[in-house]
Amino acid sequence: MSEAVWDIVCVGSGIAALTYAAALTAQRPGLRVLLLEQHTVAGGYSSEFVRPKQGARFDCSLHKLSGMGEQGNLRQVFRALGLEGQIRLHFSPVLFQAAGPLWLEVSESPEQALAGLLQAFPGQREGLLRFFDDIAVHGKNGYLQFEMLQGRYEPDFAAMRYARKHLKNITVRDALRRMFDDPQLRELLALPSIYVGSFPEQCSYLYFLHVVYANLYMRSAYMDGGSQRLSNLLVEQIRARGGEVVLNVNVERILVDKSSMRATGVATDRGEFLAREVLVNASPVYALEQLFEPMPELEASRQLVSRIRPANATSTLYLVLDEDPARLGLPHAETMLLADDPDAAWSARERSRADPVNETLAEEAYWQRSSLEITNYHALDASGGRVVIVNALDDPRHWPRRKTPEYRAKKKRGQQALLERVGRHFPDLSDHIVYAELSSPHTYQRYTNNTAGSGYGALVAPDAAPALINHRFPVAGVSFLSAWVAGSGYEAAMGYSMFKASTAAPAAASV
Ligand SMILES: Cc1cc2nc3c(=O)[nH]c(=O)nc-3n(C[C@H](O)[C@H](O)[C@H](O)COP(=O)(O)OP(=O)(O)OC[C@H]3O[C@@H](n4cnc5c(N)ncnc54)[C@H](O)[C@@H]3O)c2cc1C
Repeated sequence: MSEAVWDIVCVGSGIAALTYAAALTAQRPGLRVLLLEQHTVAGGYSSEFVRPKQGARFDCSLHKLSGMGEQGNLRQVFRALGLEGQIRLHFSPVLFQAAGPLWLEVSESPEQALAGLLQAFPGQREGLLRFFDDIAVHGKNGYLQFEMLQGRYEPDFAAMRYARKHLKNITVRDALRRMFDDPQLRELLALPSIYVGSFPEQCSYLYFLHVVYANLYMRSAYMDGGSQRLSNLLVEQIRARGGEVVLNVNVERILVDKSSMRATGVATDRGEFLAREVLVNASPVYALEQLFEPMPELEASRQLVSRIRPANATSTLYLVLDEDPARLGLPHAETMLLADDPDAAWSARERSRADPVNETLAEEAYWQRSSLEITNYHALDASGGRVVIVNALDDPRHWPRRKTPEYRAKKKRGQQALLERVGRHFPDLSDHIVYAELSSPHTYQRYTNNTAGSGYGALVAPDAAPALINHRFPVAGVSFLSAWVAGSGYEAAMGYSMFKASTAAPAAASV
């Protein structure tokens, strides 16, 4: 296999790479595409692991596909990939249930969500109307950017200019502080920033609006079988069209002919694979650090990626229960456990960022004070077992090295802290836990090579310079395709891959 010349060889088989390869091989039957994956399963974050003794299936990331309403971008991607007939979608009537200091169901219909919030916070009417207007106008313009690039959507350009000037450069926290004086309402409305791996003080308000639009106006859904099934369906498509996905292969180097500054393939722990093009699904920060030989020509790109700030990593508590989670206070797919005191949580995070290796500060900030996301997977797909997953955004820098006694002790502490938080608000749940396991930011990094363990790619902060890594990259035949360049989540990663496949350079589509 190593001597064959492929049209495209891909470093990694995450959802961005799988989507691109499936779309391109459908357009060009016979195109020779090879995906090389270091892990034992395909999909990157779009995968699962099982605990057979507990009869449990744990999804590594997916609990919500945004843009799955009839008009949603991701629904159109699913249609174009021929996935619709093969999957069963699960729509939840509630976007999420808020719990903790405030108990409220946020409907997945924008009109009902607004009505519910107006009823719960009658004094905040003006701000709420303005917030929902921002989502409907500016969130929509951001959401339809690929449609716009392809001439299928004409936005209100005056609104776009206003948004670029006034909404892009402020954080979610600052924007909401201008509209609302109730800290709990601000925390509640800011919760979707978790979907892109950021806290309200980190995320650009304009980017956030488009994320809310994608989830609320374009509806979100889960699919039976979860993310691994999605990845496996795409692998089947690629293989059926002559492409290949090979597991347990670690790409060690991207081969470059220095005389022409053109990529010629990759070197792996199983030999070399020659190709006309190399697609990098791995983090560009990691790729520039690890996969290219030192070359002065790459200096500008190295500087560019050094300015990328990874979104937050995650610590995840996986639980198996001996009772239906719906009977224990988690009737909906998603529950957001709100910070008891949002301003104190923000201060704790600021203190931790100033001294990121300080374990006490970080544990207080991320585990004890900040809002947490709880997913009842049993409500989404009961075939995976009575599984509940608790996600806390986290920072790898305060975690000791893996396989050390300090690391093991910290995992225990993390598990206890999250269990204690959840147990305080859902006391019945504690008596029904039959299995618990915690993954740390290091776990995520180990299985995907993503920089700082970030599953959400780059942080889209108000001052974020767009990661124009593909623009004038000095090695011809190399391109980057992942959440790091597309934006966080399945919808962005898959949508961008479809867009790239539809505009693929002739070399990639030459067969
Ligand atoms: C806890 C969590 C929950 C999430 N929940 C959601 C959600 O509900 N909805 C949503 O839309 N998004 C969610 N996301 C985000 C979403 O999962 C990711 O944005 C998306 O899956 C990223 O896909 P990707 O293809 O860009 O990269 P990845 O999934 O990171 O794929 C990169 C692949 O490259 C491989 N690789 C790296 N280096 C090498 C090498 N040297 N050799 C070979 N292979 C290599 C990796 O093993 C990996 O398979 C979540 C993320 C996390 C962490």
